[in-house]
Amino acid sequence: ERTNAALMQRRKNALPRGVGQSHEVFIDRAKNAEFWDVEGQRYIDFAGGIAVLNTGHLHDGVTAAVKAQLEQYTHTCFQVVAYEPYVELAEELNAIAPGTEPKKTLFLTTGAEAVENAVKIARAYTGRPGLIAFAGGYHGRTNMTLALTGKVAPYKIGFGPFPGDVYHARFPNALHGVSVEDALQSVEAIFKNDIEASRVAAFIVEPVQGEGGFNVAPPEFIVGLKKLAEQHGILLIADEVQTGAGRTGTFYACEQWPVAPDLITTAKSLAGGFPLSGVIGRADVMDAPAPGGLGGTYAGSPLSCAAALAVLKAFREENLLERSKAVGARLTESLRKLAETTPAICDVRGLGAMVAFELGKNGNPNEPDAELTKRITAEAAKRHLVLLSCGTYGNVIRILVPLTASDALLDEGLDIIAQSVQAALQ
Ligand code: PMP
Repeated sequence: ERTNAALMQRRKNALPRGVGQSHEVFIDRAKNAEFWDVEGQRYIDFAGGIAVLNTGHLHDGVTAAVKAQLEQYTHTCFQVVAYEPYVELAEELNAIAPGTEPKKTLFLTTGAEAVENAVKIARAYTGRPGLIAFAGGYHGRTNMTLALTGKVAPYKIGFGPFPGDVYHARFPNALHGVSVEDALQSVEAIFKNDIEASRVAAFIVEPVQGEGGFNVAPPEFIVGLKKLAEQHGILLIADEVQTGAGRTGTFYACEQWPVAPDLITTAKSLAGGFPLSGVIGRADVMDAPAPGGLGGTYAGSPLSCAAALAVLKAFREENLLERSKAVGARLTESLRKLAETTPAICDVRGLGAMVAFELGKNGNPNEPDAELTKRITAEAAKRHLVLLSCGTYGNVIRILVPLTASDALLDEGLDIIAQSVQAALQ
């Protein structure tokens, strides 16, 4: 029987329990910001996988590009026999990256793999081992990226030991009493307590912490970090796996920084639903590893490169960066209005269309309400809206709706959020 319940039972028997699932739903088909489950029920998708569908499910241009690529070839391994879409995509991404120096790009498959390679490149360039990441940061599920991740449950539990010479500084969070000054001082404290600055290869920071709760890095913090980086010969890596590909109103969120990073990691929405990640950076840094030092069997798959070229075309032709700002404004305005009449919502924040709201008991951010957060996402699921939570305390609800969704669909989803908050509070 092809019901959600029957498939959930088969899943339970066939898969390890470690693979979580936030909604007990099996998809049958999808289009843009909607999908239908195996029982024929319609859902609104405010998650896009996890930030993968900025151009929506089955964008016509992406689908056509992948179909055309399927007629030509699907695999050679780029290091064995090369193909043009990889080079063309690298050229396009280099051209958009901020900073005046020439850029180069390497393609891989997953976000974690992009971060792993950014670390390899930074170490090869500096000849140094140390890495400084931030509390609440998320960088992936491989061994090195788990070491970098600054959130223990559920990611790190039972999986250590992790690679050494990785340290965590504080991330600024005005709502929770961490100033930019505090965060920068915590970096200097690491230089005193843990590792000398001259042995640190890189800082790795998300422009907006994704899994950590949609915490926006203040521009002054980035300026301070860059100053420390320049002072000590340390590289600055922007992990844009979640913020990139147009989510925040610019193609890379770090285009909005007052200073440019040395390396950028990207993945998720880059290829409109196909697996692709990249490291983009200063050409001199990217060229540090010796020939043969970088690559991967599937890295930069032709199907994914074709999809990503179509994503970039969609951004140009459909003005999706402008749309990203407009979607962000619409979501923020509606959630702010809801917050006015809902004391439990203690903050509404974000950058571009990367928008979230935080829940605290009696509106107190120091009493994070993960239970209420769970009830709201469950009430939304009952009303067929897919919402994701995040945050160090699991008390933030984030929105990652396709930028191609219509205003009518956004409003339909926002109405369900208001109803779900009300139902969860009863
Ligand atoms: N970095 C960031 C900022 C992310 O949000 C994620 C995924 N949530 C990753 C890295 C890891 O990406 P992947 O799951 O594709 O390995």
